[in-house]
Amino acid sequence: MQSFTDKAAVGHFINGRVVPSESTRTQPVYNPATGAIARTLHLGDASDVDAAVAGAKQAFPAWSNTPPIRRARVMLRFLELMNKHRDELAAIITAEHGKVFSDAQGEVSRGIDVIEFACGIPQLLKGDYTEQVSTGIDNWTMRQALGVVAGITPFNFPCMVPCWMFPVAIAAGNAFILKPSERDPSAALFMARLLKEAGLPDGIFSVVQGDKVVVDALLEHPDVKAISFVGSTPIANYIYETGARNGKRVQALGGAKNHMVVMPDADIDQTIDALVGAGYGSAGERCMAISVAVLVGDVADKIIPKLAERARTLVIKNGMDADAEMGPIVTRQALERIEGYIALGVEEGASLLVDGRGIKVPGHEEGFFTGGTLFDHVTPEMRIYKEEIFGPVLACVRVKDFTEAIDLINAHEFGNGVALYTRDGHVAREFGRRIEVGMVGINVPIPVPMAWHGFGGWKRSLFGDTHAYGEEGVRFYTRQKSIMQRWPESTEKGAEFAMPTSK
Ligand code: NAD
Repeated sequence: MQSFTDKAAVGHFINGRVVPSESTRTQPVYNPATGAIARTLHLGDASDVDAAVAGAKQAFPAWSNTPPIRRARVMLRFLELMNKHRDELAAIITAEHGKVFSDAQGEVSRGIDVIEFACGIPQLLKGDYTEQVSTGIDNWTMRQALGVVAGITPFNFPCMVPCWMFPVAIAAGNAFILKPSERDPSAALFMARLLKEAGLPDGIFSVVQGDKVVVDALLEHPDVKAISFVGSTPIANYIYETGARNGKRVQALGGAKNHMVVMPDADIDQTIDALVGAGYGSAGERCMAISVAVLVGDVADKIIPKLAERARTLVIKNGMDADAEMGPIVTRQALERIEGYIALGVEEGASLLVDGRGIKVPGHEEGFFTGGTLFDHVTPEMRIYKEEIFGPVLACVRVKDFTEAIDLINAHEFGNGVALYTRDGHVAREFGRRIEVGMVGINVPIPVPMAWHGFGGWKRSLFGDTHAYGEEGVRFYTRQKSIMQRWPESTEKGAEFAMPTSK
């Protein structure tokens, strides 16, 4: 297997092999901990998409006709290989994304969960059957693969988010084309090689590297039947509209602003641990990161001093250092955006309790680091409250009671994840029922659903009808067919002109 630590150009994976792009457009891929260019990415173009789609289209009939149990066996071998190489893959993620190694291992594990789920595809594809819907007639429904489908994924989970898509799509009988983030493209190629080693036929999984040019080519290609997208809301909206206009099935998961409500009866130490982990873990670059603490009643005064102390003393280092709690930001541009929001928060009148700007990590002076930042007295009109910052910036909003907390969250344009910390079962139950958010944690800070439950937000955090993975994922990557069958006896009764009804 090719070493991922060299400065080799990153290519595509088409028809079962790594191929260079014809395109001369390139982009550096950084190691964010050092700030150094690690490798060069060739950004693909429409001809690369055409080659991948042609290979996928050719491979699709045989793969979709392969019995589901045999497709599942390929997934099982892939599962074994992912388990065997999980640390190698985690190190690739840390090297390009920056997140701490233990967090990258966790990401790989959550991706592997979906592969395990996809191994159950024979059971998941079972249809419904009704005997004798009318005399001598049976009716059943079955689900069939769509054909060539594509996934476009963000930088923040270069293994887990693709795994929300391709294991289910492929196990269901489709051919899948992945367009990973241009900022951390190597994990996708690593998984492509493992899929091939697992025995997946060439053409069933391809990787086309690139940016908007590749995305647009996929959106416009008549042979691409469905698009799964995960990324920021403006792009999710664009993908949804453009895909639908081009007659494709689309699921597009967007951005977030996740709140954690802390009730006055919450366990203070547990809540602070949860806020620190969910606010600053992965440097806040998680779509399920908590970016707003909603502090109810007098709880703010109990929480904030300790929270500020923890934010100030976060261990920020190269993610490969065993004791690192937070690594760098993915790119210098993202770092500047985050620090720009901190300046904006000050201008808007929020109280800056901990300022993470400008920290230097010894030995990594050129790395893209910022520290944990904590704001108090943030109000709903402020842009730092309304907009997704996607960095280690936690905003505290003080509210008088539970109802004000619910109303605040329900009025926000995003509805990805939310958490509640309380010891009161009735409050927890009401919260679960009344909150307009797709994924809810009760004393769980990052409630990313398990592989068989499906992942998806509400409001402008998801465009489309189905959530990712789980049974919704199976539905997204298959279409239903209903078959009604009669085997007539030898005496025919002639044509019937009335609408058929049960007889
Ligand atoms: P992004 O939207 O910038 O990029 C996502 C993908 O879209 C990438 O593959 C990128 O190449 C492509 N893309 C970027 N600009 C494009 C354009 N103009 N036209 C077509 N394609 C384009 O997102 P990101 O910065 O990589 O990831 C962070 C974002 O993803 C955050 O907003 C985060 O909340 C979101 N996210 C959401 C979820 C979720 O499940 N809802 C999960 C992970 C990340």
